[in-house]
Amino acid sequence: MAFTRRVRHLREEGAYVVLRKAQRLEREGRKIIHLEIGQPDVETFSNIAAAGTAAIKNGKTRYTLPAGLLELRETVAEVVGSSRGIAVDPEEVIIAPGSKPVLFFPTLALVNPGDEVLYPDPGFPTYEAMIRVAGGKPVPVPLSEERGFSLDVDAVARLMSYRTRMIILNSPGNPTGGVMPASDLERIAALACERDCFILSDEIYSRLIYDGATFASIASLPDMKPRTILVDGFSKTYAMTGWRLGYGVMPKALAQRVSLLLTHSVGCTACFTQYAGIEAMTGPQDRVERVRQEYQRRRDAIVAGLQEIPGITCQTPGGAFYAFPNVRSLGKPVDELADYLLEQAGVAVLPGTAFGSRGEGYLRISYANSLANIEQGLEQIRQALGRLS
Ligand code: PLP
Repeated sequence: MAFTRRVRHLREEGAYVVLRKAQRLEREGRKIIHLEIGQPDVETFSNIAAAGTAAIKNGKTRYTLPAGLLELRETVAEVVGSSRGIAVDPEEVIIAPGSKPVLFFPTLALVNPGDEVLYPDPGFPTYEAMIRVAGGKPVPVPLSEERGFSLDVDAVARLMSYRTRMIILNSPGNPTGGVMPASDLERIAALACERDCFILSDEIYSRLIYDGATFASIASLPDMKPRTILVDGFSKTYAMTGWRLGYGVMPKALAQRVSLLLTHSVGCTACFTQYAGIEAMTGPQDRVERVRQEYQRRRDAIVAGLQEIPGITCQTPGGAFYAFPNVRSLGKPVDELADYLLEQAGVAVLPGTAFGSRGEGYLRISYANSLANIEQGLEQIRQALGRLS
């Protein structure tokens, strides 16, 4: 079939490619340890699930305004306002089915064909996809291990041109767990102001940050709010991946355009899901903190375990729930290595190349799984790599 240029370049997300292969092996009776998918292994917190089901029982099952329920937009404005130290008007808030539409639609609204958009490589695959769908030119900015997988600001400065329309930031980042230092955010902010471009700041892992570090958002810096699209959501923080609920804070005029895109695409976000979101944000937050501490324990275990495997080195990621070990010295392309580990070790992990060409030489291993599974998975990886040499 002849498809348009807009969609011809689209590829399946690496995580789903590996999941499909893993499920095929499971149907054949193999036991697979899943360290490929980036979603919390815990259930949606019970108070949130109860609020969602109560909303269904109470008839909250109809359309809402495309930009979301006013009550949830007010709640987001308050929560984002206080966590980022900025004043947020509910009209600057967009509610969407997941944070993905809040990445996609502002990009469609702002990027003209030929406009350049800088984004991290390795990075979340939706970035490149949405830039291309908008007709923009993706300009990958390499993330290097030596800099803790933080965006290289010198590279950003070099790669910017008069056509740069937007810079995408993702800190803490997928797939590396890298966190951008506040001083780098300041430099990026200065570049964005100087060259008059937008920042799309994907802050979906903002609550998953370790070792006592505090999260810094570029939107908090002087003069940055009017040029920032701040994206966050409920999937990772509240274990709500399947509820499909995300939000963005952006200039009012852009929020209105994005609302029109929502009107003509999804219509609105499920009403009862939005009520669950209100409970998530206004209810007790201690569970978020307990889960974060648990991820930190798992991170420490996985990094220590990976370091002990001959041929692997692994930085300690500062956030999110991914380890990004360097496996270059094993001398195998990482997509082959990931296939080998799935088939021979029974452990599903992702090749770094699923996140861009700069991911060659790395694997992404999600530690959103139990400590027991992580330890078992590491042991099986060690044994399978032993057979490889
Ligand atoms: N941004 C990043 C960096 C992610 O890793 C993900 C999900 O894996 C998303 C956005 C999408 O999240 P949501 O479930 O809110 O659409």
